Amino acid sequence: MKVKSAVLREMGAVTPYAESQPIKIETLELDSPGPGEVLVQIKAASLCHSDLSVINGSRPRPMPMALGHEAAGIVMEIGEGVLDLEVGDYVACVFVPSCGQCGPCREGRPALCEPGAVSNTAGTLLGGERRLHAGDEDVNHHVGVSAFSEYVVVSRNSVVKFSKDIPFEKAALFGCAVITGVGAVVNTAGVKLGSTVAIVGLGGIGLSALLGALAAGASRVVAVDINEHKLKQAKELGATDVFDSRDQDVVAKIREATGGGLDFAFETAGAAPAMEVAYGITKRGGTTVTTGLPHPEAQFSFPYVTLTAEERTLKGSYLGSCVPSRDIPRYMNLFQEDRLPVDKLISDFITLDEINEGFDKLASGDSSRVIIKF
Ligand SMILES: [Zn+2]
Ligand SMILES: [Zn+2]
Repeated sequence: MKVKSAVLREMGAVTPYAESQPIKIETLELDSPGPGEVLVQIKAASLCHSDLSVINGSRPRPMPMALGHEAAGIVMEIGEGVLDLEVGDYVACVFVPSCGQCGPCREGRPALCEPGAVSNTAGTLLGGERRLHAGDEDVNHHVGVSAFSEYVVVSRNSVVKFSKDIPFEKAALFGCAVITGVGAVVNTAGVKLGSTVAIVGLGGIGLSALLGALAAGASRVVAVDINEHKLKQAKELGATDVFDSRDQDVVAKIREATGGGLDFAFETAGAAPAMEVAYGITKRGGTTVTTGLPHPEAQFSFPYVTLTAEERTLKGSYLGSCVPSRDIPRYMNLFQEDRLPVDKLISDFITLDEINEGFDKLASGDSSRVIIKF
């Protein structure tokens, strides 16, 4: 079938994207779902910093690529062997497909699925196929999804079914920002009732982590960013303290304000200066967690001796260490009970044709989540 899809053919365009127009809306040929795959009509898709990292080249991927991964839609056709979904089911897309068979999957860590990592890096679906074509040319999938398209074919293991009473534009957030941010707090770090927490970097993942920390019962949640609008938003969402990290003395000021730092600090920006702040404001015996996706060559340094002498822990968190089929329904239940109001992250709605302008909004830092409605 023919579908309209947002395609990136070259990384590293200059901003503003409204002028350089790195993403073109192309009419592509979409194959029918193969074994273990489903056809999904996308109803809402959200713009994420990991799309932006491909556009600006900080996370290099094979070109051309149909972008997008944070989305929700309706199952329209079922491939051979898919027994647990039906036509008409509502599904949210997840950016790591898990095979269920490899070492990490067997250990209950599907975020680290080995075939999933291979297919995501190669730009294919989990089964190794590319289902989008521009004439004779195959188009790569972004993290097994390519959600900025009217329809997508994805692995069954790239989607999680959800309740039909959640609107698509809200459900879309759960497969990336929410599971990554909330999962980092509750799964990777294990924040407990009364813990003190800092969030460094207040994009969609950072603000989701902030809401996760509040839902988990953190007694103090310190929010840190370079953007005043984001700091104001964090305060409105329930942050107890906010700090501008453009201040040279921000680490000393937060340590002073918190009596020596926090139990947990989360870095979500994928930038070494943010990581240095997060490590600097973690207290003795505390844990620093990063969900950031920096450039492959980026380095981060810290005082080595503190790991031992202060019994520090430094952890990475991918996909919030989540089991998507377990955690997305849990977080959606909390959302429906108003205990995880992630819809407050949504700042703008656009059409597919306005996607370049949408990425300018995201890149400016003034928008948390920009949603394409189909
Ligand atoms: Zn994402
Ligand atoms: Zn696996």
